[in-house]
Amino acid sequence: MNVYDSDRMAASLRENGYWFEPNLTEADVILINTCSIRAKSEQKVLSLLGQLKPLKDKKPDLVIGVSGCVGQRMGRSLLQRVHHLDLVFGPDSVERVVSLVEGAKKQGKRTVDTQMDAPGRTYSQPAIVHQARPSEFLTIMKGCDHFCTYCIVPFVRGREKSRPIAEVIQDVEKLVAQGTKEVVFLGQNINTYGKGTSENLAQLIERANSVSGLERIRYVTSHPRDLGVDLIEQFGRVEKLCPSLHLPFQAGSDRILKRMSRLYTRDQYLSKIELLRKACPDISLSTDIIVGFPGETEEEFEQTLEVARQVGFAQCYMFKYSPRPGTRAMSYQDELVPEAVQDERLKRLQAIAVPSSEAENRRMVGRRVPVLVEALDKKDLFYSGRDPYGKRVHILNAGQACLGKIVDVDITESNASNLRGYYVGAPRINRGLETRLSASL
Ligand code: SAH
Ligand code: SF4
Repeated sequence: MNVYDSDRMAASLRENGYWFEPNLTEADVILINTCSIRAKSEQKVLSLLGQLKPLKDKKPDLVIGVSGCVGQRMGRSLLQRVHHLDLVFGPDSVERVVSLVEGAKKQGKRTVDTQMDAPGRTYSQPAIVHQARPSEFLTIMKGCDHFCTYCIVPFVRGREKSRPIAEVIQDVEKLVAQGTKEVVFLGQNINTYGKGTSENLAQLIERANSVSGLERIRYVTSHPRDLGVDLIEQFGRVEKLCPSLHLPFQAGSDRILKRMSRLYTRDQYLSKIELLRKACPDISLSTDIIVGFPGETEEEFEQTLEVARQVGFAQCYMFKYSPRPGTRAMSYQDELVPEAVQDERLKRLQAIAVPSSEAENRRMVGRRVPVLVEALDKKDLFYSGRDPYGKRVHILNAGQACLGKIVDVDITESNASNLRGYYVGAPRINRGLETRLSASL
């Protein structure tokens, strides 16, 4: 969601005469878009701001701003704490980025804008398309009504609001016209998209499925309580809906789930998994897990291990519980699990999760899969993309002509995080090896 918001701000600024300056020391405006989900992400923002101080000292008319959830949460106090900061604003102010930056630049005003949207169940935010990528995120709703006791999202992103299906579909069509093949719909609790209106996510998926030129549809993030049978059965039926789903379970113990206010039990979670696998036997599942929630006992943690073992996730995102100001779990702080125990539990969970990802990826070796080629990898050696299951595939012999296309790849190697293979339409040479060899000659 932050990637989407950052792109949106960049696009608005571009439309108003700004351009992206890759060299930080040359920039006239530096915006840091932030996440406050855990304390660590907030600390990173503060330390980055510290590193930027010498730039501001050298160039006093440089504008430095913090947007996103840290901006929303800390507001004026951040401006008071960091004297070289000019601008603080939250996720609902993304639309006002140009006037905020201009105000700071032209009038030298230090400004805070944490004004949240007016109440209501709908909002409008047509996409600004600068240069469509093969796979694009599209935020279709914002906020969350769930108030899980550990989570800061409802406080910094407000109540749930959805964009109309007609507007989302127009965006999809705009993107497809510019070459996008895959859209990833985004929402904090996407299953309740359309809440308070006559529309819902299942309808949006059906509509997107009929957009010609669009090849793949994904969505994140689902909530196990709100993932209904209508959405589950679509995985077995809707042609463009990819066979992959991120379904966070957070904890395996019913008592902890209750204290987290997750509104489902372990058995209810597992029966949704069963239904998903019935609808789409090869669906690839990923999840989020929090270890060391306040009061979590050894036995309760073992139930988390048990769920991870039983489901066999393709990917687990694992987090140590981090206390967030204003959330209900702050009242459990006298039961905090010591950090050393959290670390130890995280390691034990990884010892199940990593081999599970390895096994999930290994079963792809020897198969031929369609890969949407998205970009060169970070070292500029191989083109890479995703298969329908959402797995990253590095293609050893693909050239630029494959970029933006869906090509067949024979998978030859795997590890816990990705796959490697050869594009079937070209000789099996290893581009990376050749590039490295020619560089060393
Ligand atoms: N809306 C999504 C994502 C929420 S944030 C959802 O409901 O799943 C992404 C993940 O961060 C959560 O699933 C949770 O596992 C983790 N998370 C959220 N708050 C946290 C906290 N206070 N400490 C540790 N992990 C947290
Ligand atoms: Fe946070 Fe997700 Fe729970 Fe909403 S559903 S409160 S975003 S963890």
